[in-house]
This record gives sequence, structure tokens and C-alpha cells, in this order.
Amino acid sequence: MRILLIEDERKVASFVARALREDSYAVDISDTGPEGLERALGTSYDAILLDVRLPGLSGIEVCSELRQKGIETPILMLTARTLIEQRVEGLDAGADDYLTKPFAVAELRARVRALIRRGFNKSAPTLQWREFALDRHRRCVKRGTEDIHLTSKEFALLEFLLIRAPETVTRTEIIEHVWDSNFDSGTNLVDVYINRLREKLGHSPAAELIHTVRGVGYSLRQSA
Ligand code: CA
Repeated sequence: MRILLIEDERKVASFVARALREDSYAVDISDTGPEGLERALGTSYDAILLDVRLPGLSGIEVCSELRQKGIETPILMLTARTLIEQRVEGLDAGADDYLTKPFAVAELRARVRALIRRGFNKSAPTLQWREFALDRHRRCVKRGTEDIHLTSKEFALLEFLLIRAPETVTRTEIIEHVWDSNFDSGTNLVDVYINRLREKLGHSPAAELIHTVRGVGYSLRQSA
């Protein structure tokens, strides 16, 4: 899952980005309104966290511009102190939710999870596929009763495949949703991670869970 954070206060931006990355999200940061708007228009994000007071364009202006252009990515506004007008303006401009600064990291994580669920219209906290279960709240994966230990990126990759299953996802979509803008598209990192996931999920090639769709991408197989 890939998130755009538009926030000009460096301390807040790095605190928020670190918390989200720990939860396996890929995070891009913009520190002005116009730059954030451009990124949001150019990339398909799973959620946008938008500060209200920004240089160039306010968060309210960025939000209403995005909605006017038909971008429906869920937006969480970060509003100052107790300014009720800001919250109302934000919601009027098309934001889905707001979070008042200063906020606790646990609250931020919960709101972001809720926001992304809303975007995918998937209320299930657990994603199930064959004998595998991925718990999106506890960020863990089980095969039956056995725990499977995944790194943060492996988890994010499996989560994305599960959300989209049984559709085929393209390599470009995987890069866009699981990695951030620093990803070097010239590498074969996606294949490397797919292979690691296959090894950890423990399927033989004949009964492979993650199926390669040649020239397109990957999909989860219905049955062996
Ligand atoms: Ca600000």
C-alpha cells in the first residue's frame, strides 16, 4: 500500500513516515501544496495524508482540486489544534476524515488503516486465501496455525496480491503500491521478492500459490 504524505513540517513528516513504514506502507513525502498536488495527480496512491497549512496551496485547496479532477483516493486531513472551521472546510472540500495535531502514533495508525479499508471497500481485518490468513491489524500471516515470518516488504506485497485476488496484478501496479518513488524500475526487485514470498509460503512449483502470468504480472492461484 502506498501513501502520499503532504506535510511541510519536517519533524511531523518524518515521525509520520517512520510510523507508516513500520506498518509496511510505502510513503512518499511532499512538502508544498503544488508539489503534493502534482504527485497525487500523477501516481495512484492508496491514501493521502494532507496537512492543512502548506506553502503554495493550502491542504483545503489541494483536496478540492483533487476531487474536482475526479481523484477519489481517501484523504485524511491533518488539522491544527482545535480549529473547528478547518475540519469543516476539509470535509466540505472532500476529505474523508481528519486528525487533529498533535496526535498519538496509535491513533494515526488506526485512522490510516480505516482510511485504506474504505478505499478498497474491504472491511475484513483478515484476508484469507486457501490455508493462508493475513491479519491486517496485527500485521502477521499464518498458514493454518503456523506463523509465517515475513519482512515488512514481503508482507506488503502479499497483502496487495490478496486484496486484488484473483485478479492478475501487473509489475507496474506492484511497484506503485508496494514501493515508494525511490524505487529503481530497472531492477528485478519485484521478482526477487515474489520468489522469497514463494519460498516462505512453502509451495512446490507444481502447486504454486503465486502464479506468474507471463508478460503481465502475478496472480494468486485458486487451487493447486
Ligand atoms: Ca503545515
